[in-house]
Amino acid sequence: MITNTYPREVVLTMPELSNCPKCDSIFVKTQFRDVCQDCWKEEEKDFETVYQFIRKRENRTATMIQVVEATGIEEDLILKFIRSGKLKLAQFPNLGYPCEKCGVSIREGKICKSCAGELRKSLQEFTAEEERRIEMAKREKQGTYFVVDGKYKKF
Ligand SMILES: [Zn+2]
Ligand SMILES: [Zn+2]
Repeated sequence: MITNTYPREVVLTMPELSNCPKCDSIFVKTQFRDVCQDCWKEEEKDFETVYQFIRKRENRTATMIQVVEATGIEEDLILKFIRSGKLKLAQFPNLGYPCEKCGVSIREGKICKSCAGELRKSLQEFTAEEERRIEMAKREKQGTYFVVDGKYKKF
């Protein structure tokens, strides 16, 4: 007798078929692989090229432009290596990736310090505005008192 020995979850998980963004061939997309097998191999090769260049002591301080020029690998792909953590920035002081808001080169987080500051400021302004609104609403509820003929009157 043949029994289904697969756990339920495995049977229910359908592979996600996708077109490779690079060569358009159909492949199974996973959280680790966003291009097809062939393109992935290409990327691995390109990564090796970049890594072999930058790991040399005299190249550790290279900037993105210098790495692109020396290796012939596209900046976008190098950025992908950085974002995915394949290329560890800690070892390369002059490499970075663009801030999601203004595009300036950063080395950690998603946005640069100045954009983070802006964001914090607008958040504070929003909070202050909210507090003012709540305060107003509270006062309105309590009513406004005027002094008429030496007596408090509520309007
Ligand atoms: Zn492909
Ligand atoms: Zn920024």
